[in-house]
Amino acid sequence: MILNSSQIVREVNNSTHLDEALALAVKRSRSSMDANACSAYINDMQTDRYLLMAADGLACAAVGKVRVVRNEGLVGWVAAHQEAVNLSDAVDHPGYRHVPGTGDELLHGFMGAPVIHHGRVLGVLVAQKHERCRFDDDEAAFFTTLAIQIGSAIHRLLSKWEFSRRLNEPGRGKISICGIACAPGLSIGKIVLSQPADLQSVPYRKARDIDSEIQVFQAAVQSAKNELLAGKERMSASLSGDVLSLFDAYAMMLESDKLTAAAVARIRKGQWARGALRDTIFEMARVFEQMSDPYLSARAEDIRNIGRQILGHLQKVESGIGAGTYPKECILAGSEISPVEITNMPRGRLAGVICIQGSALSHVAIICRALGIPAVMGLADLPISHVEDCDITVDGNRGVVCINPSPEDIHAFRQSIREEQALSARVEALRHLPAQTLDGVSIPLHVNLGIGEEDLSMLARKYEGVGLYRTEFLFIARDTLPTEDDQCRLYRDLLESFAPKPVTIRTLDVGGDKKLPFFTIAETNPLLGRRGIRFTLDNPDVFLTQLRALLLANSGLGNLRVLFPMIGRVGEIDAAIELLDRACLDLAAEGRAFERPRIGAMVEVPSAAFLMAELSKRVDFFSIGTNDLTQYLLAVDRSNPQVRGFNDNLHPAVVHVVNDIVQRSRSHGKPVGVCGEMAGDPASALLLLGLGVDSLSMNPSSLPRVKWTLRSFTMKQGRELAKKALSIENESDTLRLLNHALKAAGLGALVCEN
Ligand code: PEP
Ligand code: MG
Repeated sequence: MILNSSQIVREVNNSTHLDEALALAVKRSRSSMDANACSAYINDMQTDRYLLMAADGLACAAVGKVRVVRNEGLVGWVAAHQEAVNLSDAVDHPGYRHVPGTGDELLHGFMGAPVIHHGRVLGVLVAQKHERCRFDDDEAAFFTTLAIQIGSAIHRLLSKWEFSRRLNEPGRGKISICGIACAPGLSIGKIVLSQPADLQSVPYRKARDIDSEIQVFQAAVQSAKNELLAGKERMSASLSGDVLSLFDAYAMMLESDKLTAAAVARIRKGQWARGALRDTIFEMARVFEQMSDPYLSARAEDIRNIGRQILGHLQKVESGIGAGTYPKECILAGSEISPVEITNMPRGRLAGVICIQGSALSHVAIICRALGIPAVMGLADLPISHVEDCDITVDGNRGVVCINPSPEDIHAFRQSIREEQALSARVEALRHLPAQTLDGVSIPLHVNLGIGEEDLSMLARKYEGVGLYRTEFLFIARDTLPTEDDQCRLYRDLLESFAPKPVTIRTLDVGGDKKLPFFTIAETNPLLGRRGIRFTLDNPDVFLTQLRALLLANSGLGNLRVLFPMIGRVGEIDAAIELLDRACLDLAAEGRAFERPRIGAMVEVPSAAFLMAELSKRVDFFSIGTNDLTQYLLAVDRSNPQVRGFNDNLHPAVVHVVNDIVQRSRSHGKPVGVCGEMAGDPASALLLLGLGVDSLSMNPSSLPRVKWTLRSFTMKQGRELAKKALSIENESDTLRLLNHALKAAGLGALVCEN
């Protein structure tokens, strides 16, 4: 039977173990190509040798034993040259070397294709036949295509294989894995595996008694609801109203007709309660998973959490181990973790959370941030089944975990925790001091808000102002557009809390990777599509409602600054101002009290950097969005982890463009700030200071370090560093320059070496 490569790729992608995937690949390709033998060699990073890991038609005893060196024999040749070969007789090739134990002396026709992922040769696929003849062109094309197609699956499985092998080594090797930083802070502890009920392993079974299955199911749903409400009660002293309402959201999902009615209907058709629950939950989760919007796809995780919770009650499984058996500082680890598991942990024992799935927008991440528990999620390479009881360090600032750290690592990490604590104490002491350089130049440090902050008055006491309030989350976290009143209330709260400090609210910036759940824009390349100002200008009713709410909220306060996102042409800012004027006229005609704010443009589309003179005539201030500016300038999708390494704010082109924007806005007398992530990184903030930006706005958790940095340098030093950075040709040298400066100023603790 001839199999096409896509079917093989699907099977390989669905494999959970490297040897299983390779065995499949060689077996299927052998039958597809009519080869007498197929085999797969995998690069063992520890020894830099290629290990025979799967064979079909070759001496199986050699699997796991034969190892070849790079550049040795034909396998080594293919790996070293990263090039496929197709030979009528292997022995004719100058690279040929007999591989003892494989029986290859009986095989002549030889085809080898490298398996490559992101430039690294992971292995070599080999097909051989008895006859002295090459594989035909179709077979050769099939084989080389297959080797390319399975590259990313093999990379994922190989990482897991390497990790589990290292964990099983004597002395248990150390493993560092990068994920997504979801809640800041550093912690160290022992891994406790989350013990969710496993929906995946619910067997298929028929209901014996339909009525009693329905009763059991409904009772389990009720118990899950009671458990949630009890968890909410327990946490009410530690969590704010906004975060506590997540528990209500879960309770609502439990009451949802979609869930109970669909499961009961399945039971009525003959399924037992657990099977009906499994199918209903998977069906609901799939709908959310297929949504490309990160907020909505994160809801799939919530649905599965609910499902596991009900299953736990159906199984009448004790939800966890007793409080006494928890280590003093435990790091809860799981494929997915539910908010209930966090609230069920004995108080004071939970030091961190790590998770294979999850994102900064998931509810668990929100709860961790609210409780001040460091969390790293999206750890796709975490070998979860092997890590129970392991020591681990969790760096929620950088999104890095280290499993089985050496005593020296633990010592260094504890030192970092102490430094962080000392730094917090030190910064606390700086809280009332201005963000001012050693030679007395002040630079306002503002905060970026907009993702469900709880205590606005506390934030207002601590910070000088809001440099960026992202309004999109208000729109994304609901099923319909927020009304003028809804918006006005929220903006008013924010403005009142901070008054008279400045608050910059950005108008709706959706599209791209931020989609409105109730508004579909079908685009093949949404990052270059109708996002930001393009979307709001296309939907003037949506835009006008927001502008009216902003104007009304500002009435009698006057601390509002309105910022327009994704401005790339003069016509866009003109149209936005025209709508603002119209909103003012309408409100005046209605006799409503309002106040016109100062207006600004984000400089994040490269074209805006060339229109500073024209834009300056129209706006009061500029804010540089380095996240998008870098993305569009360097042609690097900022949310694609595969190109993470190319997305660098210190790239010389970014430094030059920021410099140009600052120079031009200054020459037109308009203040310019930076509100992208770059502003919150101490080394980059120092560079931005030297380049002459007027203010910086960042995540509140980044602000203390940036303040410390700016207070440790003179403006003159900053300018000298910026001048040097402008003559540097690559980002790594710029980073070295800035890190060196931080260390020399005694801020080595802020230097991120990787
Ligand atoms: C930016 O692009 O730098 C920015 C601050 O906007 P956002 O991250 O919301 O796109
Ligand atoms: Mg942006």
